[in-house]
Amino acid sequence: MQDKLKEYNKKRDFYKTAEPQGADKEKSNPVLRYVIQHHMSRREHYDFRLEWNGVLLSWAVPKGPSYNPKDKRLAIQVEDHPLDYRNFEGTIPQGQYGGGTVMLWDEGHWLAAESDVDKAIEKGEVKFVLLGKRLKGLWVLVKLKDTVNWLLIKEKDEYAKTSADIDGFTISIRTGRTMSEISNS
Ligand code: MN
Repeated sequence: MQDKLKEYNKKRDFYKTAEPQGADKEKSNPVLRYVIQHHMSRREHYDFRLEWNGVLLSWAVPKGPSYNPKDKRLAIQVEDHPLDYRNFEGTIPQGQYGGGTVMLWDEGHWLAAESDVDKAIEKGEVKFVLLGKRLKGLWVLVKLKDTVNWLLIKEKDEYAKTSADIDGFTISIRTGRTMSEISNS
């Protein structure tokens, strides 16, 4: 088991949830992957995940991403997730950690805008390009000092819009299912 995934494993009972165990044997890809899961748990949010150093760095974004550079979306950093988690769509039983429905909302790759990503993460300002199916262009994550809170912000480029413009995306990017279809299956 990877040390980095200790917290992930500790929070979950794998006899009860179908989420993958954090014993990832999968190698990091040369092309870094990215995924967003829309998660209808006690508090609805979007889980924003970037592949880095063999795990998925993860943030919970209560309002979801916004294409409007004027919106600064709170992104709460949570425990690293196994790379396999990018394939998880389904229902986590009530009473379990994160109980509720998870939908694959976007997926693709990401490219760091800076050469030293570890340093950028440590510094708390990471710029990157998203090559997703729904999210594209240049984005930035900025850490608020001495907290687990970051801000996810769209940078100005040809993909930026004057509204959040994510409301139309209500079905799974992978399976085409709605939230209720996922939770009833
Ligand atoms: Mn979540």
